[in-house]
Amino acid sequence: MGEPGGSNAGGDDAFRVWTYALNCCLDDEHPPEQAGADQQALINDYVDLIVEELEADPDRLAAAAAQCRERADQDTAAGCPPHHGDVWGAYLAELGAARVRTAGADTSSRKRERLLRQIHQRSTPAASSTLWDRPRQWARNWRWLRKRRRLNPVWWWRRHQLRRALTFEHARRADDMLIVVANLHGDAIGKIGFESCAICQRGLVCKVETYPPYDGYGIGGLLVDAALAAGGRPSDGFSWYTTGQYADARGFWRTMARRHRTPFRSGSTAACAHMRSTTTGTSDERSVRLDGAL
Ligand SMILES: [Zn+2]
Repeated sequence: MGEPGGSNAGGDDAFRVWTYALNCCLDDEHPPEQAGADQQALINDYVDLIVEELEADPDRLAAAAAQCRERADQDTAAGCPPHHGDVWGAYLAELGAARVRTAGADTSSRKRERLLRQIHQRSTPAASSTLWDRPRQWARNWRWLRKRRRLNPVWWWRRHQLRRALTFEHARRADDMLIVVANLHGDAIGKIGFESCAICQRGLVCKVETYPPYDGYGIGGLLVDAALAAGGRPSDGFSWYTTGQYADARGFWRTMARRHRTPFRSGSTAACAHMRSTTTGTSDERSVRLDGAL
């Protein structure tokens, strides 16, 4: 993947940070320093995740931040917009390193363990009420009901009406991230963010979500269909992967993998080098068919 001057381990850390950062503030192209007060809770959650993933090691956090920053600078120097994942990744990893230092966890292993314990407690659904966890709680509590309501004709009728009224809107961000938004009578009720590379015939789904009360009607599956139609179909040779998956989403991705006959697995090989840099491969080479995708 041509990591700039880093060890493999450091490259893996930077990649993990990059995938988390991709999911952070998917809709916004503004730099992280301009994040509004409403985004701070989300940013804090992602900093937690990154600190936990890199075991509250300030050196690993700093190295991952430096690699992301270096990639962003390379893109900027080449006259390309830097990648969202690199710009946000550097920002989040630097915040993480600062959090570790503030907690004194860089000099004391006892404080480091305590910090990791606190983060773990914050990230368990019972202790959290952030946007981040709400869909997970919802899925867990209502999974049994979902199964039951499929026996209900009213559910099928609503699903049919909902699907008939949906429209899909495509957008391409400056860093080539693609977003498809599902609209119902002008209101966004769900979205999917993904990248696709025509050179490697590979797609990477970063995030798919449906907002309550419209979840549970298969909108997530329709959004995945839309992403594949726009980014490249498995029947045309494309393979699709995902960024890190929550435990509650694994069933969904297994279903999608069976339905579309493509892996939809996460891992360090999920993205190709072209996706991680806006300077590697031009947009034209990587172009996806956005027009008439649906
Ligand atoms: Zn590629």
